[in-house]
Amino acid sequence: MINSSLKQLGEMLQAKKISSVELTQTFLDRIQQYNPSINAYISLDETKTLAQAKAADARIAAGNVAPLTGIPIAQKDIFCAKGWQTTCGSKMLANFIAPYDAHIITQFDAAGAVNLGKTNMDEFAMGSSNETSYFGGVKNPWSFDRVPGGSSGGSAAAVAARLCAAATGTDTGGSIRQPASLCGFTGLKPTYGAVSRFGMIAFASSLDQAGPMAKSAEDCALMMNVMAGFDERDSTSLNREKEDYTRDLAKPLQGLKVGLPKEYFSEGLDADVGKVIEAAIAEYKKLGAEIIDISLPNTGLSIPVYYVLAPAEASSNLSRYDGVRYGHRAAEYTDLMDMYNKSRAEGFGAEVKRRILIGTYVLSAGYYDAYYLKAQQIRRLIAQDFVEAFKKCDVIMGPAAPSTAFKAGEKVDDPVAMYLQDIYTISTNLAGLPGMSIPAGFAQSDDGVSLPVGLQIIGNYFDEARMLNVAHQYQQVTDWHTRMPAGLE
Ligand code: GLN
Repeated sequence: MINSSLKQLGEMLQAKKISSVELTQTFLDRIQQYNPSINAYISLDETKTLAQAKAADARIAAGNVAPLTGIPIAQKDIFCAKGWQTTCGSKMLANFIAPYDAHIITQFDAAGAVNLGKTNMDEFAMGSSNETSYFGGVKNPWSFDRVPGGSSGGSAAAVAARLCAAATGTDTGGSIRQPASLCGFTGLKPTYGAVSRFGMIAFASSLDQAGPMAKSAEDCALMMNVMAGFDERDSTSLNREKEDYTRDLAKPLQGLKVGLPKEYFSEGLDADVGKVIEAAIAEYKKLGAEIIDISLPNTGLSIPVYYVLAPAEASSNLSRYDGVRYGHRAAEYTDLMDMYNKSRAEGFGAEVKRRILIGTYVLSAGYYDAYYLKAQQIRRLIAQDFVEAFKKCDVIMGPAAPSTAFKAGEKVDDPVAMYLQDIYTISTNLAGLPGMSIPAGFAQSDDGVSLPVGLQIIGNYFDEARMLNVAHQYQQVTDWHTRMPAGLE
């Protein structure tokens, strides 16, 4: 049951082969068994969770069902959920009980899904290893001495270890796709604006986007049907008609044009990861795809551009945590300024402080033109690279991350090495394009551990249904997405 697809679970629930309370309890028991070692969840509330499961059972009994009714979903702790502790992985919000629901939480509630708990994450979603969380690191279920990736590391480990049926994440520079690659599951970052940011704690507002993290493309499509859609409370929410993301899953791939950017297959890529990606491309050829060489010439600039723009936006967004309007307040202080200083010094961790410092610097009067404006100009060029590329191909493929999961502690003291984890994902956020990572195989680590590798699929704006189709067809002829870490069965 823990390895069943969302569709299978929905059918079992509707046929009353199992109740939502039983299904939810199964996952709660697994969480109790494994979470103390994996640390995927920050907060659990069995009473609230089981009450939702009971309500779902009543709904099913009354015949009022939607595809996710009764299914337990883990929520990244960046989403406000009414009455739930909502920390964003920070000491700053460690005592914050959200007084309202994020848009996606409202959507899951309306669908009758069950909130299983709030998952661990890098502090304010800043990181690629989940090691900046105030609540401690998360173990990669495939190898406990390695990181699950970040910033959605808790959701990633929860999906990989089958401690939930599916989970949500957010992706500002790669935080859904890189952990999906490192933990071996399917994750989708939608087109910017497809999923409302209302009630999602802001990091870098022009890049932040929520999306599904699940076992398969089909599961992600069902999640998207719930999550996506116009919301007037988010000024960048796209006012488009509601779509059915499952509509194209079954389409054959004959004639699909797949672009391979040469910049995604150069030095920085681990050779064994490269081999897995090549094998996946070969599989796509068998499915009828045509492979086209393309170039995204400004890829190398994406990390420097992101690390000007994201911190700039973060420094502004995080100014609200002053110990008065929001967040931790120091116990002792002399005057107002001292209270601000001490509260922020105590409430934020080192990586968040680094970003606030960089952000305020690049936005300061003397440097705004040289850094912030220049980065915005290059952002446009990066987006233009994709416009050119999509004249030649339907989707772009490559690795989602340059390596498999690395050891905990390996990169924490080297921010630049950590930032390079997102070399293949960040330009998609800068361009606002959708991207996903799907399990494509395993690579051996130096010490002989078999670790998951993700294939990235990048689509044109609003092309999620096609990307899900492309992923789903591959998942019909491979079984990587069904594999589970040993010892967690
Ligand atoms: N790793 C990137 C960062 O640290 C991206 C994080 C994210 O997507 N939230 O900013």
